[in-house]
Amino acid sequence: MVRNFQRELDALIETLGDRRPKLLLHSCCGPCSSYVITYLNDYFDITVLYFNPSIYPTEEYLHRKEVQLDLIEKINRETEHEVKFIDSDYDHDSFLEIAKGHETDPECGERCRECYLQRLTETGRVAAENGFEYFCSTLSVSPHKNAALLNELGEAVAAQVRVLWLPSDFKKKEGYKRSIELSKVYDLYRQDYCGCEFSKNSRLSE
Ligand code: SF4
Repeated sequence: MVRNFQRELDALIETLGDRRPKLLLHSCCGPCSSYVITYLNDYFDITVLYFNPSIYPTEEYLHRKEVQLDLIEKINRETEHEVKFIDSDYDHDSFLEIAKGHETDPECGERCRECYLQRLTETGRVAAENGFEYFCSTLSVSPHKNAALLNELGEAVAAQVRVLWLPSDFKKKEGYKRSIELSKVYDLYRQDYCGCEFSKNSRLSE
């Protein structure tokens, strides 16, 4: 049976009542997180984790992080529920190690699977260490990202770290379209490649 992750999230939110569980939200960038944060902030106490070793080059990584922080600051000016932020070390070599042999894979192939897993594993670890009830990632907002795979990996990590995975497919409910609109509202830089040098090179050769 094909799962509908948005419907699962809707059903879970229904059960929360007035409770606002602590959610660790892995974010790949400001634009993708714009929709996800503004959507989930009605229901969860959100902390954004910026852990993206795949992003290349370093200047791009730092720029995307600045955009992320800028967005959170702007959202926090408008909301009664403060969004928090956790930074991470940037170790691009750790990404190159897991991408070895998959440099020419198309987007959504094995390299991306390893890249998702690296980010979700760290998010689960930080969530467990810091007493979060749920964790998830903004990644599924992109039409280029496989929500079924992200949820499968997220659930596998959740079973290991004993933190709940938030089922999600944020491109539903026009999430991707909203992220473009919100990027304009919040005046956010939108990159034109996913993140790693391999995605950058394939974008340049198009
Ligand atoms: S294309 Fe994106 S998801 Fe795939 S490996 Fe590169 S940064 Fe990761």
